[in-house]
Amino acid sequence: MASIDVKNIVKEYGDGFLAVKGISLDIADGEFMILVGPSGCGKSTLLRMIVGLEDITDGELLIGGERMNEKAPRDRNLAMVFQNYALYPHLTVRENIAFPLRLHRGEFSEAEIKSRVERASDMLELNDHLDRKPANLSGGQRQRVAMGRAIVRNAQAFLFDEPLSNLDAKLRGQMRTEIARLQRSLATTTVYVTHDQTEAMTLGDRVAVLSAGELQQVASPRALYEQP
Ligand code: ADP
Ligand code: ADP
Repeated sequence: MASIDVKNIVKEYGDGFLAVKGISLDIADGEFMILVGPSGCGKSTLLRMIVGLEDITDGELLIGGERMNEKAPRDRNLAMVFQNYALYPHLTVRENIAFPLRLHRGEFSEAEIKSRVERASDMLELNDHLDRKPANLSGGQRQRVAMGRAIVRNAQAFLFDEPLSNLDAKLRGQMRTEIARLQRSLATTTVYVTHDQTEAMTLGDRVAVLSAGELQQVASPRALYEQP
């Protein structure tokens, strides 16, 4: 677990377009931060710079006080959950969850992998589905497997990019509750991108509102709600 300090970060895409125009945001250790704003405002770009999937043009990113700008994704120890799950169709649920632990061969013993997968599947109530393939799961179950892959890493932070936008309204409500519960019980620093007002107002400790690559405000959901 760790704090995430975004210091005046800029993203310029190849053609000179500024997708992120100098955003600063301090996310505390264990905090659940929501990034919200209209499509195209730079939410995903900011998240992808934090995880290391996109280069930072200017500014500085610190995680746990350590500069991350030049670090490869694998050296940041973060776990990202995407909206399209990114599960491997040929692997079982068990192997999908274990996958991040097998990336670096020999780093984790089979016993360690087994115990971490069991802990994650307990938390996510996936025990009855461990031998199934993603094609045989519901949308909500697939989303849980994607979260399982984030949990097994014991990552410093979770990063969610609109994880629920492909689900129907009922499931979305269930998963929202589940994500909130998980985040509280793990107390892992979390950055969660959404354009959904309900998610923004119910999930996080604080909400960062973006517009056209700039940070408009950062406040608790209650403070935002009570604004005139
Ligand atoms: P959001 O997640 O808020 O919808 P994005 O971060 O995806 O916004 O995009 C922010 C802006 O950057 C948009 O105008 C988008 O078109 C642009 N953009 C995103 N990715 C690229 C890219 N690879 N090359 C050029 N422009 C991009
Ligand atoms: P490779 O370097 O073998 O091509 P990738 O580019 O897929 O592998 O990923 C490199 C490293 O980046 C992985 O070992 C993983 O730790 C990290 N990584 C990739 N995608 C994510 C993600 N969505 N969330 C967190 N870390 C990731």
